[in-house]
Amino acid sequence: MLHEPPITPAPNLLPLGPVSGAARVAVLLPYPFAGPFDYLAPPGTDLVPGDVVLVPLNRRQEIGVVWDAPSGPSVPAAKLKPVTARLDAPALPAASRRFVDWVAAYTLAAPGEVLAMALRVNALTPPAPATGFVSTNPLPEGKLTEARRRVLGCANHAMPRSAAELARSAEVSTAVIRAMVHAGFLRPTPIPAAPPFASPDPHYAEPVFSAEQAQIATALRGSVRQAAFSVILLDGVTGSGKTEIYLEAVAACLESGRQSLILLPEIALSAQFLSRFERRFGVAPALWHSDLSSRTRRATWRAVAEGSARVVVGARSALFLPFTKLGLVVVDEEHETAFKQEDGVVYHARDMAVVRARLSDATAILVSATPSLETLANVEAGRYRHFCLRTRHGGARLPEVSAIDLRDHPPERGKFLSPALIEAVHATLAAGEQAMFFLNRRGYAPLTLCRACGHRLACPNCTAWLVEHRALRKLTCHHCGHTEPIPPQCPVCKAEGTLAPIGPGVERITEEVAAVFPHARRLVMASDTMPGPHAAAAAARAIEAREVDLIIGTQIVAKGWHFPHLTLVGVVDADLGLAGGDLRASERTVQLLHQVAGRAGRAEAPGRVLLQTFSPEHPVMQALVANDLTRFFAREAEARRPGNWPPYGRLAALIVSADTADAADLCARDLGRVAPGGDGVLVLGPAPAPLAILRGRHRRRLLLKTRRDIAVQPLLRDWLGRVKVIRGVRVDVDVDPVSFL
Ligand SMILES: [Zn+2]
Ligand SMILES: [Zn+2]
Repeated sequence: MLHEPPITPAPNLLPLGPVSGAARVAVLLPYPFAGPFDYLAPPGTDLVPGDVVLVPLNRRQEIGVVWDAPSGPSVPAAKLKPVTARLDAPALPAASRRFVDWVAAYTLAAPGEVLAMALRVNALTPPAPATGFVSTNPLPEGKLTEARRRVLGCANHAMPRSAAELARSAEVSTAVIRAMVHAGFLRPTPIPAAPPFASPDPHYAEPVFSAEQAQIATALRGSVRQAAFSVILLDGVTGSGKTEIYLEAVAACLESGRQSLILLPEIALSAQFLSRFERRFGVAPALWHSDLSSRTRRATWRAVAEGSARVVVGARSALFLPFTKLGLVVVDEEHETAFKQEDGVVYHARDMAVVRARLSDATAILVSATPSLETLANVEAGRYRHFCLRTRHGGARLPEVSAIDLRDHPPERGKFLSPALIEAVHATLAAGEQAMFFLNRRGYAPLTLCRACGHRLACPNCTAWLVEHRALRKLTCHHCGHTEPIPPQCPVCKAEGTLAPIGPGVERITEEVAAVFPHARRLVMASDTMPGPHAAAAAARAIEAREVDLIIGTQIVAKGWHFPHLTLVGVVDADLGLAGGDLRASERTVQLLHQVAGRAGRAEAPGRVLLQTFSPEHPVMQALVANDLTRFFAREAEARRPGNWPPYGRLAALIVSADTADAADLCARDLGRVAPGGDGVLVLGPAPAPLAILRGRHRRRLLLKTRRDIAVQPLLRDWLGRVKVIRGVRVDVDVDPVSFL
């Protein structure tokens, strides 16, 4: 559960007074205990809820947070231990504490586990000053090599720069820097603390809006100014200027002196967003994601707590930052399943963002071109307001979508691009425009099969096929990360040269594209070939600068990009997401493909989208071709209503996992025997999970389904309380599950 190293107490401890006559105080520790523990606060020490303190636990000193109510007199005062010290750190604000309690109660996680997410940055101590280097003056005697001369050209005798930075600028290794320090050319000097986050200027570059856009922007600004809780769905076709419009809500929030939080589904894709933000407000916002250096994380956490970080753009974990005066939460691409955290505390960041806004009397804006059915149901029920943009910005038209029926237009044997798609790409290239191939599957081939005996290469730890990654010459399990070299012969029948890749991944499509369009400049964008924001930003720049003709990508290319010269999108396998029978398979496929389609024709030249499919008659394909998502979502909603499926009912999953199939079965059967029932309550299962073995653990699932007016948490608590879970068996709870694997 907790992978963070223990927080090391820092020297910034504030002494506390004597212990006699002490008062009882509750302290929540960042561990999976059921609740806070009581400690004694020495008299005269004004400990208040939110204070970060050091307390004894077993034989260690642990950091905790003073919580709101003492947990009761069950432990006699004489047995309580005193609080050791208060840390000189910003207190955890009341809204953050309410939020921790709320998330814990909703997800059935321990409050301390949730608190760990709020404290895990280890940001409680002020950032230590980093060491930089300045050039000495006068310089020591001696001959300078060319490399050393370059370093001195980049160094300054007043402003220290870090070794890494100097090495990068002078194009030398850091060993050269170290040697120059030793030889007396450079002198170590502390780098002054990072300047506080510059405040974005709401009037820096005010946008020019169409009448439709201006009307919505005014409404959003009005809502933020009210400083009361409300939720707004901002729904609009791709390229309609949704970002520019919600940035007006950010502007209103800046004017009112409150903080804004913008959640993005994938922070790796934030580069283009950041430059849009900077164009509007003159400075970059504070950024929050897992790749930040610990120094930046500390500085950012403190700046949020102290209110100097006015706008934070981040991944879902940014919800747990200690905002003191939050006025606005934006969830961009609210339909994205990436907002669901599946490990540790299992929560949906979109839904928790709404809760977070409510706890701070703030406005929440959910943004999407293809809103989730959950959000649409909230609009329908009058809980959320709805603003809709129907036209693309600047006169750009929506792309024309058509299906290529692969039954009538099959690709060549062993290939995946149909002649119709190839021809359209040739025409696009001839017109000097860019085209994109989209396939939401990493690697070379999703399955490797022996042509002699039919053996399929599977993961030793999971119920899953191994995916070939030819560039790395490896087979990989995408569920547990197991890798092995591609075997020279079939592991079963020992035949040589019989192993054949089945089906395409993005690598295989790239190979085919290279053969068909040998003279086109190609760029592959996939999450495993493009880790981190820098690589994605560089790729985006290359595309914008027309250094690329063809883009081949996985779902990473679908999101939010603005490529003005891209006019054709070819979806290699439009049917891919429909297999598997997941509750939301159709909804997700429509959302993803609509989003990819939206990358085409965002400037003057009109865009075209071609969907390769074996079932053009499927409602998903029909909706995309007719560009009639409203009707599709209405149909989808009607299909879910009668069975109380979400959003018209509630779901919670119990996932039992154990080292042996017998232990998993036993626990799952016990749970099944005492399952809750009654009017509007139904339990499905136990059944083997589709991923029946994951990382060597055997998995069984039970699914609780209730009417919408029945809360699942009390049922779950009662249910779990009736079963004794033996050692080595785990029962994980997933409220509002998104994945059913
Ligand atoms: Zn074989
Ligand atoms: Zn595996």
